[in-house]
Amino acid sequence: MNDTATASLASEVAALEAELRALLGERGVTSDLAAREKASIDGSHLSPVIRSKLPLGLADLVAYPATAEEIALTVGAAVRHGVPITPRGKGTGNYGQGIPMHGGLVLDMSRARTIVEVGDGFITADAGATMVALEQAANKTGQQILMYPSTAQSTIGGFLSGGSGGTGSIKHGMLHTGFALALDVVHAVPDAQLIHLEGEATEPYIHNYGTAGIIARVTVKLEPLQDWRGFFASFDDFGQALSVIREFAELEPTPRLVSADLPTLANALPSDPGIPADRASLRAILDIASVEAATALVEAAGGRVEDVRDGAQTTMKISMISYNHPIEWLQKAYPDTYFHVEVSGDALVERIDEVHAVYPGGMLHIEAQRGRPIGMIAGVYESEEQVYAGFERLAELGVGYHNPHQWFVDYQPERTAALAEQTDPAGLLNPGKLKRAAVATGSQL
Ligand SMILES: Cc1cc2nc3c(=O)[nH]c(=O)nc-3n(C[C@H](O)[C@H](O)[C@H](O)COP(=O)(O)OP(=O)(O)OC[C@H]3O[C@@H](n4cnc5c(N)ncnc54)[C@H](O)[C@@H]3O)c2cc1C
Repeated sequence: MNDTATASLASEVAALEAELRALLGERGVTSDLAAREKASIDGSHLSPVIRSKLPLGLADLVAYPATAEEIALTVGAAVRHGVPITPRGKGTGNYGQGIPMHGGLVLDMSRARTIVEVGDGFITADAGATMVALEQAANKTGQQILMYPSTAQSTIGGFLSGGSGGTGSIKHGMLHTGFALALDVVHAVPDAQLIHLEGEATEPYIHNYGTAGIIARVTVKLEPLQDWRGFFASFDDFGQALSVIREFAELEPTPRLVSADLPTLANALPSDPGIPADRASLRAILDIASVEAATALVEAAGGRVEDVRDGAQTTMKISMISYNHPIEWLQKAYPDTYFHVEVSGDALVERIDEVHAVYPGGMLHIEAQRGRPIGMIAGVYESEEQVYAGFERLAELGVGYHNPHQWFVDYQPERTAALAEQTDPAGLLNPGKLKRAAVATGSQL
Protein backbone atom coordinates (compact mmCIF):
# COMPACT_ATOMS: atom_id res chain seq x y z
CA MET A 1 0.00 0.00 0.00
CA ASN A 2 1.43 3.45 -0.87
CA ASP A 3 1.29 6.50 1.48
CA THR A 4 -1.84 7.94 -0.14
CA ALA A 5 -3.69 4.61 0.14
CA THR A 6 -2.60 4.22 3.79
CA ALA A 7 -3.80 7.74 4.66
CA SER A 8 -7.09 7.10 2.86
CA LEU A 9 -7.64 3.80 4.75
CA ALA A 10 -6.87 5.60 8.05
CA SER A 11 -9.52 8.23 7.37
CA GLU A 12 -12.05 5.58 6.30
CA VAL A 13 -11.29 3.59 9.47
CA ALA A 14 -11.93 6.70 11.57
CA ALA A 15 -15.22 7.33 9.75
CA LEU A 16 -16.20 3.66 10.18
CA GLU A 17 -15.40 3.79 13.89
CA ALA A 18 -17.75 6.76 14.30
CA GLU A 19 -20.50 5.01 12.36
CA LEU A 20 -20.10 1.76 14.31
CA ARG A 21 -20.20 3.65 17.60
CA ALA A 22 -23.60 4.97 16.57
CA LEU A 23 -24.76 1.53 15.38
CA LEU A 24 -23.38 -0.71 18.14
CA GLY A 25 -22.94 1.67 21.08
CA GLU A 26 -19.78 2.77 22.90
CA ARG A 27 -18.82 -0.78 23.90
CA GLY A 28 -19.47 -2.16 20.42
CA VAL A 29 -16.27 -0.91 18.82
CA THR A 30 -12.72 -0.10 19.87
CA SER A 31 -9.47 1.18 18.43
CA ASP A 32 -7.58 0.53 21.68
CA LEU A 33 -4.18 -1.02 20.87
CA ALA A 34 -4.38 -3.87 23.41
CA ALA A 35 -7.78 -4.95 22.02
CA ARG A 36 -6.50 -4.68 18.44
CA GLU A 37 -3.45 -6.79 19.25
CA LYS A 38 -5.55 -9.42 21.03
CA ALA A 39 -7.85 -9.61 18.01
CA SER A 40 -4.91 -10.05 15.62
CA ILE A 41 -3.50 -13.36 16.83
CA ASP A 42 -4.89 -16.88 16.59
CA GLY A 43 -3.78 -20.45 17.32
CA SER A 44 -1.13 -20.45 14.59
CA HIS A 45 1.64 -20.54 17.20
CA LEU A 46 1.15 -24.32 16.75
CA SER A 47 3.06 -24.03 13.47
CA PRO A 48 6.74 -23.07 13.82
CA VAL A 49 6.65 -22.15 10.12
CA ILE A 50 3.89 -19.55 10.64
CA ARG A 51 5.26 -18.54 14.05
CA SER A 52 8.54 -17.50 12.44
CA LYS A 53 6.56 -15.12 10.20
CA LEU A 54 4.50 -13.43 12.93
CA PRO A 55 3.22 -10.74 13.29
CA LEU A 56 1.27 -11.07 10.06
CA GLY A 57 -1.16 -8.20 10.56
CA LEU A 58 -2.75 -5.80 13.03
CA ALA A 59 -6.40 -4.75 13.13
CA ASP A 60 -7.14 -1.01 12.99
CA LEU A 61 -10.50 -1.49 14.65
CA VAL A 62 -12.41 -4.24 16.46
CA ALA A 63 -16.22 -4.44 16.43
CA TYR A 64 -18.34 -6.56 18.76
CA PRO A 65 -21.80 -7.00 17.24
CA ALA A 66 -24.18 -8.67 19.69
CA THR A 67 -26.70 -10.21 17.26
CA ALA A 68 -26.79 -11.65 13.75
CA GLU A 69 -28.59 -8.49 12.61
CA GLU A 70 -25.79 -6.32 14.04
CA ILE A 71 -23.25 -8.47 12.19
CA ALA A 72 -24.97 -7.59 8.92
CA LEU A 73 -25.13 -3.88 9.82
CA THR A 74 -21.41 -3.88 10.68
CA VAL A 75 -20.40 -5.60 7.44
CA GLY A 76 -22.47 -3.15 5.37
CA ALA A 77 -20.84 -0.17 7.10
CA ALA A 78 -17.32 -1.54 6.57
CA VAL A 79 -18.04 -2.17 2.89
CA ARG A 80 -19.34 1.37 2.38
CA HIS A 81 -16.04 2.66 3.81
CA GLY A 82 -13.92 0.20 1.81
CA VAL A 83 -12.40 -1.26 5.01
CA PRO A 84 -11.21 -4.93 5.02
CA ILE A 85 -13.18 -7.25 7.32
CA THR A 86 -11.66 -10.24 9.13
CA PRO A 87 -14.24 -12.33 11.02
CA ARG A 88 -13.23 -13.82 14.32
CA GLY A 89 -14.78 -16.36 16.68
CA LYS A 90 -12.51 -17.33 19.59
CA GLY A 91 -9.35 -17.05 17.50
CA THR A 92 -8.24 -20.67 18.00
CA GLY A 93 -7.77 -21.49 14.29
CA ASN A 94 -4.28 -22.88 13.86
CA TYR A 95 -3.39 -21.81 10.31
CA GLY A 96 -3.23 -18.01 10.77
CA GLN A 97 -6.54 -17.83 8.94
CA GLY A 98 -7.96 -15.41 11.52
CA ILE A 99 -5.14 -12.84 11.32
CA PRO A 100 -6.13 -9.48 9.75
CA MET A 101 -3.31 -9.47 7.23
CA HIS A 102 -4.50 -6.27 5.57
CA GLY A 103 -5.45 -4.51 8.81
CA GLY A 104 -8.92 -2.95 8.79
CA LEU A 105 -11.78 -4.28 10.90
CA VAL A 106 -11.83 -7.45 12.97
CA LEU A 107 -15.42 -8.57 13.37
CA ASP A 108 -15.36 -10.29 16.77
CA MET A 109 -18.39 -12.58 17.08
CA SER A 110 -18.00 -13.53 20.72
CA ARG A 111 -20.90 -11.33 21.94
CA ALA A 112 -23.31 -12.61 19.26
CA ARG A 113 -23.90 -15.83 21.16
CA THR A 114 -27.65 -16.14 21.60
CA ILE A 115 -29.08 -19.63 21.33
CA VAL A 116 -32.21 -18.84 19.38
CA GLU A 117 -34.03 -22.18 19.42
CA VAL A 118 -33.53 -25.82 20.33
CA GLY A 119 -35.99 -27.96 18.41
CA ASP A 120 -36.43 -31.63 17.65
CA GLY A 121 -33.24 -32.53 15.74
CA PHE A 122 -31.83 -29.01 15.39
CA ILE A 123 -30.36 -26.04 17.23
CA THR A 124 -30.23 -22.46 15.95
CA ALA A 125 -27.74 -19.96 17.36
CA ASP A 126 -25.89 -16.78 16.47
CA ALA A 127 -22.39 -17.35 15.12
CA GLY A 128 -20.53 -16.56 18.34
CA ALA A 129 -22.22 -19.25 20.46
CA THR A 130 -19.63 -21.69 21.76
CA MET A 131 -19.67 -25.39 20.98
CA VAL A 132 -19.87 -26.15 24.71
CA ALA A 133 -22.93 -23.87 25.02
CA LEU A 134 -24.60 -25.64 22.07
CA GLU A 135 -23.89 -29.07 23.55
CA GLN A 136 -25.21 -28.03 26.99
CA ALA A 137 -28.37 -26.52 25.48
CA ALA A 138 -28.90 -29.67 23.41
CA ASN A 139 -28.32 -31.94 26.43
CA LYS A 140 -31.05 -30.14 28.38
CA THR A 141 -33.54 -31.33 25.76
CA GLY A 142 -32.24 -34.92 25.70
CA GLN A 143 -30.19 -34.32 22.54
CA GLN A 144 -26.53 -33.88 21.58
CA ILE A 145 -24.64 -32.02 18.88
CA LEU A 146 -23.32 -34.26 16.09
CA MET A 147 -19.73 -33.06 16.38
CA TYR A 148 -17.52 -30.48 18.03
CA PRO A 149 -13.77 -29.72 17.83
CA SER A 150 -11.28 -30.36 20.62
CA THR A 151 -11.26 -26.57 21.10
CA ALA A 152 -14.74 -26.94 22.57
CA GLN A 153 -14.83 -23.31 23.79
CA SER A 154 -14.56 -22.10 20.18
CA THR A 155 -17.55 -20.71 18.29
CA ILE A 156 -19.93 -22.45 15.91
CA GLY A 157 -19.23 -19.80 13.25
CA GLY A 158 -15.47 -20.31 13.61
CA PHE A 159 -15.80 -24.09 13.59
CA LEU A 160 -17.87 -24.09 10.39
CA SER A 161 -15.57 -21.52 8.76
CA GLY A 162 -12.16 -22.72 9.90
CA GLY A 163 -12.47 -26.20 11.39
CA SER A 164 -12.88 -29.70 10.08
CA GLY A 165 -14.24 -32.18 12.64
CA GLY A 166 -13.69 -33.67 16.06
CA THR A 167 -15.67 -35.50 18.72
CA GLY A 168 -18.54 -37.20 16.88
CA SER A 169 -16.72 -37.37 13.53
CA ILE A 170 -16.16 -41.13 13.76
CA LYS A 171 -19.86 -41.54 13.06
CA HIS A 172 -20.72 -38.29 11.31
CA GLY A 173 -17.61 -37.55 9.26
CA MET A 174 -16.23 -34.07 8.83
CA LEU A 175 -18.04 -30.75 8.44
CA HIS A 176 -19.11 -31.32 4.85
CA THR A 177 -21.58 -34.11 5.56
CA GLY A 178 -24.80 -32.25 6.21
CA PHE A 179 -24.00 -31.04 9.74
CA ALA A 180 -25.20 -27.51 8.91
CA LEU A 181 -28.91 -27.46 8.14
CA ALA A 182 -29.17 -23.71 7.52
CA LEU A 183 -27.02 -20.60 7.59
CA ASP A 184 -27.76 -16.90 7.61
CA VAL A 185 -24.82 -15.40 5.73
CA VAL A 186 -23.81 -11.83 4.99
CA HIS A 187 -22.20 -10.78 1.73
CA ALA A 188 -19.75 -7.88 1.45
CA VAL A 189 -22.09 -5.40 -0.21
CA PRO A 190 -23.03 -1.87 0.91
CA ASP A 191 -26.59 -2.81 1.92
CA ALA A 192 -25.55 -6.11 3.53
CA GLN A 193 -28.39 -8.20 4.94
CA LEU A 194 -28.92 -11.66 6.37
CA ILE A 195 -29.36 -14.18 3.54
CA HIS A 196 -31.03 -17.41 4.63
CA LEU A 197 -29.66 -20.60 3.02
CA GLU A 198 -30.67 -24.19 3.62
CA GLY A 199 -29.23 -27.65 2.94
CA GLU A 200 -26.81 -27.93 -0.01
CA ALA A 201 -26.81 -24.15 -0.47
CA THR A 202 -24.87 -23.77 2.81
CA GLU A 203 -21.95 -25.91 1.65
CA PRO A 204 -20.05 -23.24 -0.41
CA TYR A 205 -19.70 -21.13 2.79
CA ILE A 206 -18.11 -23.87 4.88
CA HIS A 207 -14.38 -24.02 5.67
CA ASN A 208 -13.30 -21.04 3.62
CA TYR A 209 -12.45 -18.62 6.43
CA GLY A 210 -15.28 -16.19 5.72
CA THR A 211 -13.77 -15.25 2.35
CA ALA A 212 -17.05 -15.70 0.46
CA GLY A 213 -19.44 -14.52 3.17
CA ILE A 214 -19.75 -14.04 6.90
CA ILE A 215 -21.77 -16.62 8.83
CA ALA A 216 -24.09 -14.74 11.19
CA ARG A 217 -26.56 -17.39 12.34
CA VAL A 218 -26.43 -21.16 12.18
CA THR A 219 -28.78 -24.13 12.42
CA VAL A 220 -27.05 -27.47 12.95
CA LYS A 221 -28.34 -31.00 13.39
CA LEU A 222 -28.88 -32.67 16.74
CA GLU A 223 -29.36 -36.35 17.58
CA PRO A 224 -30.75 -38.14 20.65
CA LEU A 225 -28.47 -37.91 23.70
CA GLN A 226 -26.49 -41.08 24.48
CA ASP A 227 -25.20 -42.31 27.80
CA TRP A 228 -21.47 -41.72 27.35
CA ARG A 229 -18.54 -43.01 29.39
CA GLY A 230 -14.96 -41.74 29.50
CA PHE A 231 -12.73 -44.78 28.87
CA PHE A 232 -9.00 -44.81 29.68
CA ALA A 233 -6.71 -47.69 28.66
CA SER A 234 -2.95 -48.12 28.53
CA PHE A 235 -0.47 -50.45 26.81
CA ASP A 236 3.18 -51.39 27.11
CA ASP A 237 3.78 -50.09 23.61
CA PHE A 238 2.07 -47.97 20.98
CA GLY A 239 1.85 -50.89 18.51
CA GLN A 240 -0.67 -52.60 20.81
CA ALA A 241 -2.83 -49.46 20.96
CA LEU A 242 -2.63 -49.08 17.19
CA SER A 243 -3.67 -52.69 16.69
CA VAL A 244 -7.13 -51.95 18.14
CA ILE A 245 -7.76 -48.48 16.72
CA ARG A 246 -9.71 -49.66 13.66
CA GLU A 247 -11.71 -52.17 15.68
CA PHE A 248 -12.66 -49.39 18.10
CA ALA A 249 -14.04 -47.37 15.17
CA GLU A 250 -16.35 -50.30 14.35
CA LEU A 251 -17.76 -50.75 17.87
CA GLU A 252 -21.54 -50.47 18.13
CA PRO A 253 -22.89 -48.03 19.10
CA THR A 254 -20.15 -45.99 17.41
CA PRO A 255 -17.76 -44.27 19.83
CA ARG A 256 -17.82 -40.48 19.91
CA LEU A 257 -14.02 -40.26 20.06
CA VAL A 258 -11.03 -42.63 20.21
CA SER A 259 -7.50 -41.19 20.52
CA ALA A 260 -4.17 -42.95 21.08
CA ASP A 261 -0.66 -41.73 21.82
CA LEU A 262 2.89 -42.92 22.25
CA PRO A 263 4.28 -42.73 25.80
CA THR A 264 6.23 -39.51 25.07
CA LEU A 265 3.08 -37.76 23.85
CA ALA A 266 0.95 -39.23 26.64
CA ASN A 267 3.49 -38.07 29.26
CA ALA A 268 3.08 -34.50 27.98
CA LEU A 269 -0.69 -34.51 28.56
CA PRO A 270 -2.20 -33.04 31.75
CA SER A 271 -1.71 -35.51 34.56
CA ASP A 272 -4.57 -37.96 35.02
CA PRO A 273 -4.68 -41.34 36.82
CA GLY A 274 -6.20 -42.78 33.63
CA ILE A 275 -3.00 -41.89 31.72
CA PRO A 276 -0.17 -43.63 33.59
CA ALA A 277 3.41 -42.45 32.99
CA ASP A 278 5.57 -44.07 30.30
CA ARG A 279 2.77 -46.13 28.77
CA ALA A 280 0.97 -45.79 25.46
CA SER A 281 -2.46 -44.29 26.11
CA LEU A 282 -5.86 -44.89 24.51
CA ARG A 283 -8.75 -42.64 25.49
CA ALA A 284 -12.28 -42.97 24.24
CA ILE A 285 -15.79 -41.63 24.66
CA LEU A 286 -17.96 -44.73 24.51
CA ASP A 287 -21.65 -45.43 24.68
CA ILE A 288 -22.18 -47.39 27.90
CA ALA A 289 -23.41 -50.32 25.76
CA SER A 290 -19.98 -50.78 24.13
CA VAL A 291 -17.74 -50.56 27.22
CA GLU A 292 -17.65 -54.33 27.67
CA ALA A 293 -16.66 -54.99 24.05
CA ALA A 294 -14.04 -52.23 24.23
CA THR A 295 -12.58 -53.75 27.41
CA ALA A 296 -12.29 -57.13 25.65
CA LEU A 297 -10.45 -55.50 22.72
CA VAL A 298 -7.96 -53.80 25.03
CA GLU A 299 -7.27 -56.93 27.05
CA ALA A 300 -6.90 -59.13 23.96
CA ALA A 301 -4.25 -56.70 22.68
CA GLY A 302 -2.31 -56.98 25.97
CA GLY A 303 -3.43 -53.66 27.43
CA ARG A 304 -5.33 -52.78 30.58
CA VAL A 305 -8.32 -50.58 31.25
CA GLU A 306 -7.29 -47.86 33.72
CA ASP A 307 -10.65 -46.27 34.36
CA VAL A 308 -14.21 -45.89 33.10
CA ARG A 309 -15.84 -42.64 34.20
CA ASP A 310 -19.27 -41.15 34.04
CA GLY A 311 -20.13 -37.50 33.52
CA ALA A 312 -19.97 -34.74 30.96
CA GLN A 313 -16.86 -33.24 32.57
CA THR A 314 -14.80 -36.35 31.86
CA THR A 315 -15.98 -36.75 28.29
CA MET A 316 -15.34 -33.05 27.61
CA LYS A 317 -11.87 -33.43 29.12
CA ILE A 318 -11.14 -36.39 26.82
CA SER A 319 -12.28 -34.26 23.87
CA MET A 320 -10.01 -31.44 24.92
CA ILE A 321 -6.90 -33.65 24.77
CA SER A 322 -7.68 -34.98 21.30
CA TYR A 323 -6.85 -33.88 17.73
CA ASN A 324 -4.23 -31.06 17.79
CA HIS A 325 -4.10 -30.83 21.56
CA PRO A 326 -1.51 -33.57 22.25
CA ILE A 327 0.79 -31.69 19.83
CA GLU A 328 0.19 -28.45 21.73
CA TRP A 329 0.98 -30.19 25.03
CA LEU A 330 4.11 -31.72 23.48
CA GLN A 331 5.21 -28.24 22.42
CA LYS A 332 4.67 -27.00 25.98
CA ALA A 333 6.79 -29.86 27.36
CA TYR A 334 9.55 -29.35 24.74
CA PRO A 335 9.44 -25.67 23.69
CA ASP A 336 10.64 -24.74 20.19
CA THR A 337 11.10 -28.38 19.19
CA TYR A 338 8.13 -29.95 17.41
CA PHE A 339 5.99 -29.26 14.35
CA HIS A 340 3.17 -31.42 13.00
CA VAL A 341 1.47 -32.53 9.79
CA GLU A 342 -2.14 -33.73 9.61
CA VAL A 343 -2.24 -37.27 8.20
CA SER A 344 -4.70 -40.02 7.33
CA GLY A 345 -4.96 -43.58 6.02
CA ASP A 346 -4.49 -47.22 6.91
CA ALA A 347 -0.73 -46.86 6.38
CA LEU A 348 -0.70 -45.06 9.75
CA VAL A 349 -1.46 -48.45 11.30
CA GLU A 350 0.13 -50.79 8.78
CA ARG A 351 3.40 -48.94 8.12
CA ILE A 352 3.87 -47.08 11.39
CA ASP A 353 7.65 -47.53 11.61
CA GLU A 354 8.09 -46.06 8.12
CA VAL A 355 5.65 -43.25 8.95
CA HIS A 356 7.60 -42.44 12.11
CA ALA A 357 10.84 -42.40 10.09
CA VAL A 358 9.60 -39.64 7.73
CA TYR A 359 10.63 -36.90 10.17
CA PRO A 360 13.34 -36.93 12.87
CA GLY A 361 11.73 -37.75 16.23
CA GLY A 362 8.53 -38.74 14.38
CA MET A 363 5.56 -39.54 16.63
CA LEU A 364 2.00 -40.24 15.60
CA HIS A 365 -1.07 -39.08 17.49
CA ILE A 366 -3.97 -41.11 16.04
CA GLU A 367 -7.77 -40.70 16.00
CA ALA A 368 -10.10 -43.55 15.01
CA GLN A 369 -12.42 -42.82 12.08
CA ARG A 370 -14.74 -45.05 10.07
CA GLY A 371 -12.94 -46.02 6.86
CA ARG A 372 -9.49 -44.63 7.60
CA PRO A 373 -7.79 -43.42 10.74
CA ILE A 374 -6.55 -39.84 10.87
CA GLY A 375 -3.96 -38.15 13.02
CA MET A 376 -1.07 -35.80 13.42
CA ILE A 377 2.54 -36.73 12.96
CA ALA A 378 4.88 -34.68 15.12
CA GLY A 379 8.53 -34.27 14.17
CA VAL A 380 11.52 -32.28 15.35
CA TYR A 381 11.48 -28.99 13.44
CA GLU A 382 14.48 -28.08 11.34
CA SER A 383 13.20 -25.93 8.48
CA GLU A 384 10.16 -25.18 6.33
CA GLU A 385 11.81 -27.09 3.45
CA GLN A 386 12.21 -30.18 5.65
CA VAL A 387 8.48 -30.11 6.43
CA TYR A 388 7.54 -30.04 2.73
CA ALA A 389 10.18 -32.63 1.75
CA GLY A 390 8.41 -35.12 4.04
CA PHE A 391 5.13 -34.75 2.13
CA GLU A 392 6.55 -36.69 -0.82
CA ARG A 393 7.60 -39.57 1.40
CA LEU A 394 4.20 -39.62 3.14
CA ALA A 395 2.51 -39.88 -0.26
CA GLU A 396 4.82 -42.77 -1.24
CA LEU A 397 3.73 -44.58 1.92
CA GLY A 398 0.06 -44.11 1.01
CA VAL A 399 -0.48 -41.54 3.77
CA GLY A 400 -2.87 -38.66 3.04
CA TYR A 401 -1.60 -35.33 4.36
CA HIS A 402 -2.75 -31.78 4.93
CA ASN A 403 -0.36 -28.85 5.27
CA PRO A 404 -1.20 -26.84 8.43
CA HIS A 405 1.59 -24.33 7.81
CA GLN A 406 -0.12 -22.02 5.33
CA TRP A 407 -3.19 -19.80 5.55
CA PHE A 408 -4.68 -19.94 2.05
CA VAL A 409 -8.12 -21.47 1.52
CA ASP A 410 -7.30 -24.99 0.34
CA TYR A 411 -10.71 -26.65 0.40
CA GLN A 412 -12.44 -26.11 -2.97
CA PRO A 413 -10.48 -22.87 -3.58
CA GLU A 414 -11.72 -22.45 -7.17
CA ARG A 415 -15.36 -22.71 -6.08
CA THR A 416 -14.80 -20.21 -3.27
CA ALA A 417 -12.96 -17.80 -5.60
CA ALA A 418 -15.83 -17.93 -8.10
CA LEU A 419 -18.41 -17.34 -5.35
CA ALA A 420 -16.41 -14.51 -3.80
CA GLU A 421 -16.34 -12.67 -7.14
CA GLN A 422 -20.12 -12.33 -6.67
CA THR A 423 -20.42 -12.01 -2.90
CA ASP A 424 -17.36 -9.87 -2.20
CA PRO A 425 -16.68 -7.89 -5.39
CA ALA A 426 -14.25 -5.47 -3.69
CA GLY A 427 -12.18 -8.28 -2.09
CA LEU A 428 -12.76 -7.03 1.47
CA LEU A 429 -13.51 -10.34 3.19
CA ASN A 430 -10.53 -11.70 5.12
CA PRO A 431 -8.06 -10.51 2.46
CA GLY A 432 -4.83 -12.46 2.06
CA LYS A 433 -6.46 -15.88 2.53
CA LEU A 434 -8.06 -16.58 -0.84
CA LYS A 435 -6.13 -16.82 -4.06
CA ARG A 436 -8.70 -15.42 -6.46
CA ALA A 437 -6.85 -17.17 -9.31
CA ALA A 438 -6.82 -20.23 -7.10
CA VAL A 439 -3.92 -22.69 -7.13
CA ALA A 440 -3.41 -25.97 -5.32
CA THR A 441 -1.64 -25.60 -1.97
CA GLY A 442 -0.34 -28.99 -1.03
CA SER A 443 -3.18 -30.93 0.50
CA GLN A 444 -4.06 -34.53 -0.19
CA LEU A 445 -5.87 -35.49 3.00
C1 LIG B 1 -4.77 -27.03 19.96
C2 LIG B 1 -5.80 -26.92 18.87
C3 LIG B 1 -6.70 -27.96 18.69
C4 LIG B 1 -7.65 -27.88 17.65
N1 LIG B 1 -8.51 -28.93 17.48
C5 LIG B 1 -9.40 -28.88 16.47
C6 LIG B 1 -10.29 -29.97 16.24
O1 LIG B 1 -10.36 -30.93 17.00
N2 LIG B 1 -11.10 -29.90 15.16
C7 LIG B 1 -11.13 -28.81 14.35
O2 LIG B 1 -11.92 -28.79 13.39
N3 LIG B 1 -10.33 -27.76 14.57
C8 LIG B 1 -9.47 -27.76 15.60
N4 LIG B 1 -8.66 -26.70 15.81
C9 LIG B 1 -8.83 -25.50 15.00
C10 LIG B 1 -9.85 -24.50 15.63
O3 LIG B 1 -9.63 -24.41 17.01
C11 LIG B 1 -11.29 -24.90 15.41
O4 LIG B 1 -11.55 -25.10 14.07
C12 LIG B 1 -12.28 -23.92 16.03
O5 LIG B 1 -13.58 -24.48 15.96
C13 LIG B 1 -12.30 -22.56 15.35
O6 LIG B 1 -13.25 -21.75 16.01
P1 LIG B 1 -12.92 -20.28 16.51
O7 LIG B 1 -14.16 -19.73 17.11
O8 LIG B 1 -11.72 -20.23 17.38
O9 LIG B 1 -12.63 -19.60 15.11
P2 LIG B 1 -11.50 -18.57 14.69
O10 LIG B 1 -10.16 -19.15 14.91
O11 LIG B 1 -11.78 -17.26 15.31
O12 LIG B 1 -11.80 -18.47 13.12
C14 LIG B 1 -11.49 -19.53 12.26
C15 LIG B 1 -11.62 -19.02 10.82
O13 LIG B 1 -12.97 -18.76 10.52
C16 LIG B 1 -13.20 -17.36 10.25
N5 LIG B 1 -14.45 -17.06 10.96
C17 LIG B 1 -14.66 -17.02 12.30
N6 LIG B 1 -15.96 -16.79 12.55
C18 LIG B 1 -16.57 -16.65 11.35
C19 LIG B 1 -17.90 -16.38 10.95
N7 LIG B 1 -18.88 -16.24 11.83
N8 LIG B 1 -18.17 -16.31 9.62
C20 LIG B 1 -17.20 -16.49 8.70
N9 LIG B 1 -15.91 -16.72 9.02
C21 LIG B 1 -15.61 -16.82 10.33
C22 LIG B 1 -11.98 -16.64 10.78
O14 LIG B 1 -11.69 -15.48 10.03
C23 LIG B 1 -10.90 -17.68 10.55
O15 LIG B 1 -10.50 -17.65 9.22
C24 LIG B 1 -7.69 -26.74 16.82
C25 LIG B 1 -6.79 -25.70 17.03
C26 LIG B 1 -5.86 -25.78 18.04
C27 LIG B 1 -4.90 -24.62 18.25
